[in-house]
Amino acid sequence: MKEYRVRVARSEGQGRLPRMATFAVTLEERMTVLDALFQIQSHQDPSLSFRCACRVGMCGTCAMSINAVPRLACKTQANRLATSTITIGPLPNLPVIKDLVVSLEPFFAHWKRIKPALHSKGRESTEAVRIPATSPYSRSTEGKRDCITCGICHAACGVVGTDGAFLGPAAINKAFLRLMDPRDDATDDRLVTLNGERDGVWRCHTQFNCTAACPKRIDLTDTISRLKRGLASPSAFNK
Ligand code: SF4
Repeated sequence: MKEYRVRVARSEGQGRLPRMATFAVTLEERMTVLDALFQIQSHQDPSLSFRCACRVGMCGTCAMSINAVPRLACKTQANRLATSTITIGPLPNLPVIKDLVVSLEPFFAHWKRIKPALHSKGRESTEAVRIPATSPYSRSTEGKRDCITCGICHAACGVVGTDGAFLGPAAINKAFLRLMDPRDDATDDRLVTLNGERDGVWRCHTQFNCTAACPKRIDLTDTISRLKRGLASPSAFNK
């Protein structure tokens, strides 16, 4: 058992400045920041607001800033933070609804712009399409298909932080998956969006913040670099 001082940003949203509330919490070894928040909500302040669902790092809903780093609260063990003070706030770069709950509307607005759904070439076909694990698509997208839309990369991105128009790493990664997908035929539309001067891939400054923060360990910086190279020779995306 270990005692922690947990500082939580409380806010009613609508652009109001947060105030920090401090709680004393005792956690057993391997308990997480999410466990600490539940203890506070159950025993000290039932009005504390935060989101969670799966509690096993699959849904992405408990993303928040923990000691100034965007992370999943359910996957962050308190004793691994190497401090007895834990400071928790909402994800940066997103509007706060209340306390630790943010609106993901700006994140998904970019997601929609890159046409995330499959635009199938063979809409009339009744044939099943097989994509073997050894196909060029499977190999080129390996390790990039596990996004849980948690918004952490959006929150960690320094470019999004200075200009919310930037598509952001997750939307760009999704566009890459569709561009490489042999079943898809919306290549030209996506390339126009990705090539945008103010909001496209060229705005990325290769800071690696997104790659470092992604809880699914997706190499987002590599994705963006590959797209920059591909945009320099668009035939790279011919299928
Ligand atoms: Fe979260 Fe990673 Fe997906 Fe970004 S790419 S939304 S950090 S899982």
